[in-house]
Amino acid sequence: MGDIGHRVLVTGGAGFLGSHLCDRLLARGHEVTCLDSFLTSQRRTIAHLEANDRFTLIEHDIIDPIELQTDAIFNLACPAAPGHYQAEPMHTWRTSVYGVDNMVEVARRNQAPIFHSSTSEVYGDPDCSPQPESYRGNVNPIGPRACYDEGKRAAETLLFDARRRGDVQVKVVRIFNTYGPRMHPYDGRVVSNFIRQAINGEDITIFGDGSQTRSFCYVDDLIDGFLAMMEGPEDLSGPVNLGNPQERTILDLAQRVLEKIESSSQLVTKPLPPDDPLQRRPDITLATDRLGWKPRVDLEEGLEATIEAFRGLDLEDWTPPTKYWQGPPLTD
Ligand code: UDP
Repeated sequence: MGDIGHRVLVTGGAGFLGSHLCDRLLARGHEVTCLDSFLTSQRRTIAHLEANDRFTLIEHDIIDPIELQTDAIFNLACPAAPGHYQAEPMHTWRTSVYGVDNMVEVARRNQAPIFHSSTSEVYGDPDCSPQPESYRGNVNPIGPRACYDEGKRAAETLLFDARRRGDVQVKVVRIFNTYGPRMHPYDGRVVSNFIRQAINGEDITIFGDGSQTRSFCYVDDLIDGFLAMMEGPEDLSGPVNLGNPQERTILDLAQRVLEKIESSSQLVTKPLPPDDPLQRRPDITLATDRLGWKPRVDLEEGLEATIEAFRGLDLEDWTPPTKYWQGPPLTD
């Protein structure tokens, strides 16, 4: 088993997943440097950490080179909600390509392992289900999602070339839809949208006919998977799928949220965004066999925790602050 070392760099550390990872690393006694551009993340997700003397925050965009001392890197920096990554598509692509290149350089100089958050989006609109890591994907390279999907694919290429050259130790996971407390209520993603809409009594927006599927993983399970991967067998570079294989239709998700919140919101349909994958479900055999990892929190329990967290927010205070918050363009 690998050892993470004491000083850990988390890029995108103020994001939804990054802030949970910073919490977990600090609780384990690490010294954590959080790098974040704050283009889509929020200072409030890490406000509770700023007084911790083992926590350092650096405002920085990984597109620009940086020199840092560290024992390990978790590279999570990249807008991930479709509305965010499509708002500045070339910036998204650069984050995955130039940004990852810069982080590989930090890893090489420090001889530190680099963990990279890739995505189920590398599979595009898959024509097999569930998706194993060996599936090479079905991505439209010129569509509105391509800045993210192809950027993340190129990042994997870069990381595995660096590994082959012996420059760095890499650890790549492909993350499937994840939800939980600290999602931004206006990030435009389905779980955050449905919960916010149901609490506020807004219409629940079903894109398409709602028969498309996703498999939703609770954030705590995912962070367990990150740590298991980073501390896992040295020869395991991945990519390794991390996600919850329980597949649901979007309509089913809407009904569950409505029932739990006892909301009178109405379901309304909106056009399906271009290239929206019709199905998505991880094959997690590799993670289970090599890392002993599998998700523990089912959708019912995870939704309840997320709803409770959303109920505690002053939603008025979270209105979209920047151009990254206008929601996904629905047409090409
Ligand atoms: N979706 C929806 N209503 C919304 C937001 C999303 O029906 O208000 C659908 C979206 O079209 C997609 C699925 O929910 O089929 C998941 O969307 P999300 O943006 O959360 O993530 P994706 O998996 O597409 O990256």
